[in-house]
Amino acid sequence: MAIPGPDVVRALRGIVGDTHVLTEPDVAASYLTDWTGTWTGEAAVVRPADTAEVADVMRACAAHSVAVTPQGGNTGLVGGSTPTPGDDRPWVLLSLRRLDTVGDVDSQGRCVGAGAGATLASVHAAAAGAGLAFGVDLAARDSATIGGMVATNAGGIRMIRHGDTRAQVLGIEAVLPSGDVFTRWRPLRKDNVGYHLPALLAGSEGTLAVITRVLLRLVPAAARTAVALVGTVDVAAAQRVTRSIEASGRLIEAAEIMTRAGVDLVAAAGVRAPFDSGTTLLVETAGDTGDLSEALAAAGSDVVDAVVEAGPAREAWRLRESHTETIARSSTTPVVKLDVSVPLDRVQDLVDRVDRLAAAAGVRAVQFGHLGDGNIHVNLLDVPLDDQCTAADRVLRMVADLGGSISAEHGIGRAKAASVGLGRDDVDVAAMRAIKSALDPCGIMNPGAIFADP
Ligand SMILES: Cc1cc2nc3c(=O)[nH]c(=O)nc-3n(C[C@H](O)[C@H](O)[C@H](O)COP(=O)(O)OP(=O)(O)OC[C@H]3O[C@@H](n4cnc5c(N)ncnc54)[C@H](O)[C@@H]3O)c2cc1C
Repeated sequence: MAIPGPDVVRALRGIVGDTHVLTEPDVAASYLTDWTGTWTGEAAVVRPADTAEVADVMRACAAHSVAVTPQGGNTGLVGGSTPTPGDDRPWVLLSLRRLDTVGDVDSQGRCVGAGAGATLASVHAAAAGAGLAFGVDLAARDSATIGGMVATNAGGIRMIRHGDTRAQVLGIEAVLPSGDVFTRWRPLRKDNVGYHLPALLAGSEGTLAVITRVLLRLVPAAARTAVALVGTVDVAAAQRVTRSIEASGRLIEAAEIMTRAGVDLVAAAGVRAPFDSGTTLLVETAGDTGDLSEALAAAGSDVVDAVVEAGPAREAWRLRESHTETIARSSTTPVVKLDVSVPLDRVQDLVDRVDRLAAAAGVRAVQFGHLGDGNIHVNLLDVPLDDQCTAADRVLRMVADLGGSISAEHGIGRAKAASVGLGRDDVDVAAMRAIKSALDPCGIMNPGAIFADP
């Protein structure tokens, strides 16, 4: 009974129009399986056109106790954007993709309003058209939406420079589970009137409200960028190189790490790797402070090999950005994907421990990520299906043991819901549950995400 009964479907069709309620499994399929292919649920797919329709849909769902999973680009990597598999309560998959308007850039106030369904690429284009930039970027930019990015508090490749998505949110419009519309929409850099509800919705993963519009902070576009691919013997050496470049007065726009296993995989898939090295650092800098090669020379023997190009250096970035998709195609079983962070002085330790764990288990490990943030994407390939939960649990415990976080930037979703206790203590979890109950007393918002039990 995951598709709501005929009366509810009729009411939903009355709100959004017949063609925007999908109940045929074939037509709805692409919405109901997540990007990793691991999570598939059942639901009626509903595609509202604007905030008023979202509010009416939420009122109808609340009145009939229908569960709702909001969805943007469906590029999330933790099973948060599709209904819980095997859960037979009536369910609506609420696609926000039609809310894709990007407003005019306010060049003076350095901000832009965007609908929840606007893609990241469309916001980048609007900002660039006004000579500005949006401070968050990630490889899924052509599909990931602003609503999904706020809901997951996405990090990405520029986080070292501009912070996470939460830090870019100046205002928000969202529909509460009751259907009431919450709006805080002022282009103010400072506004301390009570609780910061937009910040609370950032990272809420569809469990508190449906985000419909976001007022985004813009930043000056980076000038005179340069990109270096640097071969180093290990991760610790790559960290020293990054610090040395920083000490030379350059602004670090991105500092990404790729281990040998990932570079080899991507190179075998046809992307050019400039040299053979244990570890590859991709570093992008901005500012007119001379040749980046000179700063690399100052890093001494930590640099084994290096190539430097003027930005945007798309070919160099392709080596890094091809990782997620290439890894997904290269495993004989679904990839065990874990997005974790550890204190900066423990990153080498984590990478070594994961490699040892994989070798002992006879599986392949590919590790890469956002070095400047201590954020490593751990991918275990060819793990037999029966061993996947144990493998994931061992890595997450290892991360907790190193003083790290079991979710750096992808969120908890359903994939890590059972492990929340490894990242937060009992009082903390109880406070989060109290917030959830206050905003969503009937528990209809994305049940199973963040909290395994409702
Ligand atoms: C190739 C690739 C590279 C990636 N790189 C990065 C990276 O560098 N950094 C990073 O952080 N992530 C990365 N991701 C993960 C993903 O792109 C982000 O999590 C992104 O923010 C998800 O946006 P989305 O629109 O696809 O959201 P979805 O996948 O549709 O949804 C994700 C979560 O947000 C909720 N949600 C979606 N829209 C709304 C809304 N309007 N209101 C309320 N809740 C909503 C959903 O219920 C779900 O819980 C990558 C993914 C891929 C495939």
